[in-house]
Amino acid sequence: MEWTPEAEAWLKRVPFWVRKRVRRAVEDWAASRGKTRITEADFLKAREELRDKAAETGEGYTVETCFGGAGCKNALTDSAPLLRRVEDLLRKADLTSFLREKVGGPLKHHHQFRVAFSECPNACSRIHIADFGLNGRIRLEVEPGLCSFCESCLEVCEEEALRLTEAGPVVEETRCVACGACTRICPTGALREVERGYRILVGGKLGRRPRLATEIVPLAREEEVLRILERVLRIYREENRRGERLGAIIERLGWEEFRKRVLE
Ligand code: SF4
Ligand code: SF4
Ligand code: SF4
Repeated sequence: MEWTPEAEAWLKRVPFWVRKRVRRAVEDWAASRGKTRITEADFLKAREELRDKAAETGEGYTVETCFGGAGCKNALTDSAPLLRRVEDLLRKADLTSFLREKVGGPLKHHHQFRVAFSECPNACSRIHIADFGLNGRIRLEVEPGLCSFCESCLEVCEEEALRLTEAGPVVEETRCVACGACTRICPTGALREVERGYRILVGGKLGRRPRLATEIVPLAREEEVLRILERVLRIYREENRRGERLGAIIERLGWEEFRKRVLE
């Protein structure tokens, strides 16, 4: 299928993680109308029609992942096995019937309980606007006495979270995102990865009252992720009035109350 430069320019404005999918959908749309060339007008018409179609959905939840599983060099975790278990939990929670009853009509995308997985802190799958977001991360430890003062860690840390003192490296916790770049480059083991797992965030959403997700657990293994998700889903069902997103429920309950109920 041929694309005019103007149509290609419109496609480039689509976020990269859905661009391939949008290209395919627009080409299918054009082919079904006997077209062999996509113009700017075609792109805009297809976008409008596809959006209308996508506005209604049958499912009560959605799970999004980043491309880390396809071999991204930044990936710290491999979520495929956990992903299957998370989907099992979501299916068992029967969110589709639950939300249909709460909403009192067909479900739209903005009603869905959204889970997002990213395999590293770069968060390409938009975990910050998901109801339940996860990103792979490490826990590092410092052995200051082993430092050779080569400064390689300072060069790779994009967060400027490291400084070298006479005694060795110091990590500024509030800046460090636990990406592990410094532990991978450190030649002496002065910066060392000691654990790997998932950071858990909850309550992110867009819409009229957007809210960025809040970290509830800094580092969890698979079993803990599942346990936390089960509790979050229980509260979500108990406190849901009209199909609102988890973030709205957290705002109503207050963060401390919500957090206590999840972690108790
Ligand atoms: S979140 Fe990290 S691992 Fe996943 S695609 Fe982005 S950079 Fe790669
Ligand atoms: S783990 Fe990443 S963010 Fe943290 S200090 Fe090392 S390189 Fe910087
Ligand atoms: S990379 Fe390791 S050895 Fe080099 S300065 Fe940093 S902590 Fe020290």
